[in-house]
Amino acid sequence: MTRVLVVEDEPTLARALAITLRANRYDVAVAHTGASGLDGMANWHPDLVVLDLGLPDLDGMDVLRALRGWSQVPVVVLSARQTSTDKVNALDAGADDYVTKPFAMDELLARLRAAARRRSPDDAPPVVETASFTVDIAHRRVLRDGQEVRLTPTEWHMLEMLARNVGKVVGRRELLAELRGPNLDRETHYLRVYLAQLRRKLEPDPTHPRHLLTEPGVGYRLEP
Ligand code: CA
Repeated sequence: MTRVLVVEDEPTLARALAITLRANRYDVAVAHTGASGLDGMANWHPDLVVLDLGLPDLDGMDVLRALRGWSQVPVVVLSARQTSTDKVNALDAGADDYVTKPFAMDELLARLRAAARRRSPDDAPPVVETASFTVDIAHRRVLRDGQEVRLTPTEWHMLEMLARNVGKVVGRRELLAELRGPNLDRETHYLRVYLAQLRRKLEPDPTHPRHLLTEPGVGYRLEP
């Protein structure tokens, strides 16, 4: 299921959004402040974000700029601000689309579908096969000898990043930013810990990895 994080402080609208999105088979989480929204973006790893600009603690634009420091998740902005300057500013700050309040739920759903399509082109690999295991990105699961391997959300997220770039090096900074949010970019030992866990679960011989490779001083690479 596609995960949508709704960052909206008005309880009635937040509830209506959650109900509508769940009825349309989205997995929904709601944050009522900018801070909790950023926390959800860093830790829940949504596939889409609906972001209200008028929040009680932070300006939604600042939330958007902070998010774009480490994530390219599609963001559809909601705002009562009507001028084209506001729209341009939001799009320049990295919003994928802009919906002015009040809006029809059908319109928002259409905008969300379009934003998700733009960010997941048809040539993205839905399934990455290695000689030892299979990463099914679309269904968020990994199979080894036909059996599903249980991964923690962070392990899965790291593997997914590597699988989406199969054969290519993914930089440590990029991985850390994706996994831990923007503030922990020096804590590279996290990456080593998660990579060691993934090797234990997926490599035929974890001490001599064939697939989950370290590029010294640079990052990591998934080799089929
Ligand atoms: Ca608001």
